[in-house]
Amino acid sequence: MQESPTPRNFIADIVATDLESGRHKGVVTRFPPEPNGYLHIGHAKSICLNFGLARAFGGACHLRFDDTNPSTEDLEYVEAIQRDVRWLGFDWGPNLFFASDYYEALYEHALHLIRTGFAYVCSLSDAGVKAGRGSVSEPGVDSPYRGRSVEENLALFERMRLGEFEDGAHVLRAKIDMAAANMKLRDPAIYRIKHAPHYRRGKDWCVYPLYDFAHCLSDAQEGITHSICTLEFENNRELYDWLLARSVVDCRPRQFEFARLNLTHTLLSKRKLLELVQQGLVRGWDDPRMPTIAGMRRRGYTPEAITAFCELIGVAKNNSLVDLGKLEFCLREDLHERAPRVSCVFYPLRVTLTPVPKATTLVAARFPDRPERGTRLVPLSAELFIERADFSEAPPPGWHRLAPGAEVRLRHAGLLRCETVEKDADGTVIALACSYHEDDGTRKVKGTIHWVSAAEALDVEVRLYDKLFGADEPTALDPLNSGSLEVIQGCKIEPSVNGTEAGAHFQFERHGYFVSDPDGTPERPIFNRTVTLRDGFAKVLAAAMPGAAATPPRVERPRTRAAQGQAQAELPRSIARLTEPARGIAEARRARGASDAAALVFATDEALGQLFDGAVELGACASITGNLAANELRGLLGAVGVQGLRFGAAELAELVGLIDEGAVTNTTAKDVLAHLIAKGGSPRGVVEALGATKLAHGELAAIVSEVVATHAAEATRYREGKTALLAFFVGQVMRRTKGQANPAELEPLLRARLVHRIHPIEG
Ligand code: ATP
Ligand code: MG
Repeated sequence: MQESPTPRNFIADIVATDLESGRHKGVVTRFPPEPNGYLHIGHAKSICLNFGLARAFGGACHLRFDDTNPSTEDLEYVEAIQRDVRWLGFDWGPNLFFASDYYEALYEHALHLIRTGFAYVCSLSDAGVKAGRGSVSEPGVDSPYRGRSVEENLALFERMRLGEFEDGAHVLRAKIDMAAANMKLRDPAIYRIKHAPHYRRGKDWCVYPLYDFAHCLSDAQEGITHSICTLEFENNRELYDWLLARSVVDCRPRQFEFARLNLTHTLLSKRKLLELVQQGLVRGWDDPRMPTIAGMRRRGYTPEAITAFCELIGVAKNNSLVDLGKLEFCLREDLHERAPRVSCVFYPLRVTLTPVPKATTLVAARFPDRPERGTRLVPLSAELFIERADFSEAPPPGWHRLAPGAEVRLRHAGLLRCETVEKDADGTVIALACSYHEDDGTRKVKGTIHWVSAAEALDVEVRLYDKLFGADEPTALDPLNSGSLEVIQGCKIEPSVNGTEAGAHFQFERHGYFVSDPDGTPERPIFNRTVTLRDGFAKVLAAAMPGAAATPPRVERPRTRAAQGQAQAELPRSIARLTEPARGIAEARRARGASDAAALVFATDEALGQLFDGAVELGACASITGNLAANELRGLLGAVGVQGLRFGAAELAELVGLIDEGAVTNTTAKDVLAHLIAKGGSPRGVVEALGATKLAHGELAAIVSEVVATHAAEATRYREGKTALLAFFVGQVMRRTKGQANPAELEPLLRARLVHRIHPIEG
């Protein structure tokens, strides 16, 4: 086996010590899934640890199916688990085992315990056994059957095996100590009667060994040296050792526990994931929203990203909750190297160019930062599609994309100026006539947009995924995120993707990373969004939709040195990159007390900066004002713009005062801002009025999400340009809330939910 760099974790240290001291000649670990569901990302952590140790120390890792519960196990799961372990890049070689192959041997071990007086048949009911166990503070009481003779126990156990008793009539219990402080040692059951066919053993058996008994003896049977499990099994270790000490075995494996993986917004339990599948809440185990390995593969995760994540989070002895952002960080790092760029327009708007561009086929890099990795051909013609969201008839301040009379750069091509806007009878924009100029480098054009040539573009379906659960730490009872799947038909993609097989990765410029789904064909691919691009806009959305998308994680963020360095360097670098006058403005507002991020915003948005100055001059706290203006207010402004505001610096200062004195929370402050934008008024007055509304903001956000999800067709039409549909959505929410929604809150929430967000060009 290939030697790898030694992993650094406390278990690797134990293994290294055991090898050095000669306690073991080689390391043998095992990954022991029960085939009762598909593997999930939590299992990947255990797989990386167990197979990783074997690989690093030149040992072996067994794949053992812990299949001792006939009613839940299935061959489908056995096959899926093998496929997933292999896909992750691990190989068990000849070491594929099944606990169900040990049934005969395990039965012999049980007989041995009975003969040596360490096990007895107990005929109490389930409830009776439970009642006798006592509690953490109370010792248990001996079962009335504890004193049965060896002969009686042997005879009864034999009859259990022969099928003479009903399920639950008797159990075989280890005879340990009903007063033991560790409750696992209070005569635990080790065999039970279960008349159910087994997926591998058929009707061979009607008594089945329980986990604690089967596990340690299977480990010993296979010569496992280090039996690694999750922390919940810490108390089982004493029982593990007790059983092995009283059994005839050739070796004595030891158990070590590590912290299981818990991930924000993610359910990690096969049983609960099975419920989602059985109830039809997802389309199967491999639904791209599932945290299963199969789902993640279909979503576009790579084995490299998953193993890098397992490496990054390490192996600890304390349970913790890991931010999903960490997993996505590893994913983006990997896909950045793997996924070539292409251009895809989600909500196409037709654009005609005059004069017709000279070049009809452009050569574009597959990886803009690595030109040596090849090129693709991109047709250019007089008719293009651009994103609807890249055109605004009444652009807000700071708009760098297309607008009547405005100029943008076409990615890889020349410059475009919007000359005429064509509308249908309802006033919806249906096409643009633009003039086209080669870029001779003399013009200052800020925005660059992506596009596809209309005649050559392929029509594709795109599936956008979001978290299945909005809650940080979801339970099976939490509602699913109704916006977790959004399907867009009729997207236009450049022809270079023609012939793409399922599983190919791409970066769609400005949209994120995508992978082709097996539902598509090479001629007509379907794309799953694997992950968005790094999302600086998340905050803006969170401001507009508290409680819904992009909740700021309250747990750890990526802590790699690379990630940290990036966060620290980012802002000063971005301020340093500003032109001289803008840098001066940013510095001045930083000196006033604005944060780096806010100062940066004010350097490029003078109107907002002046509002900040005004409020601070009136005595408002500079850091609160800066954040409120640069994040929340800017996020809510939309097309209104600072000039169109119905309030000024005095109101902003008053609101900041209310936050400062603790009279309003940040969430309420956003509501107040939304209200002030829509209706004007005094912040204090609005706070009082909001206090009287019956619907909490979070509830309203959830209803908005649901309404948008149930009217997906209308949402699509809105995004396709029928913005008049906003009134329809307002009406739907009003009906759903029986008129209790506050319109001033509702409109910005709806707009934020309906808007189609696109990033600036990366790299
Ligand atoms: P689930 O609750 O999802 O069914 P499980 O522990 O019952 O998980 P098994 O098939 O018994 O599932 O687990 C196989 C191995 O994977 C065990 O060694 C277990 O400790 C490990 N494992 C399961 N879940 C996690 C997790 N979240 N983090 C790390 N290891 C895990
Ligand atoms: Mg389990």
